[in-house]
Amino acid sequence: MQVALWILIFISTFLIMEFMAWFTHKYIMHGFLWVLHKDHHKKDHGSWWERNDLFFIFYAAVSIGCFYAWNSHDFWAGLPVGLGIFAYGFTYFMVHDIFIHQRFKMFRNANNWYAKGIRRAHKIHHKNINKGEGECFGMLIPPLKYFKR
Ligand SMILES: [Zn+2]
Ligand SMILES: [Zn+2]
Ligand SMILES: [Zn+2]
Repeated sequence: MQVALWILIFISTFLIMEFMAWFTHKYIMHGFLWVLHKDHHKKDHGSWWERNDLFFIFYAAVSIGCFYAWNSHDFWAGLPVGLGIFAYGFTYFMVHDIFIHQRFKMFRNANNWYAKGIRRAHKIHHKNINKGEGECFGMLIPPLKYFKR
């Protein structure tokens, strides 16, 4: 029973993180912290790092906090929650930073329907280089229309 609950918490955390990523992106990154996200939309700098990467560090810290609660305070659910956040962050980095933005030259030829759909959706997001009126703020679960041809 404990194992099933553990897995359920891990999967729920992963899914909630997609919602959190969408929410953070739409209302915070394109909101009061636009100053940190702006350099991801307007490439006005030559560095590999973007101020935008700070959002990553924020979620990494939350995940580490969960591991800490599990390890030092005997909070067992801290482990599946911490791992769920980590797994989402890792997936987001692989999909958004490597596959879509090619920060490392990998997965360039991924061309299945799912890869095409999420890439198309995120490209639409980047068409808008301003703070407001964007679309497609999510990452792994884009609107269905992007899977249709
Ligand atoms: Zn954006
Ligand atoms: Zn980027
Ligand atoms: Zn992007």
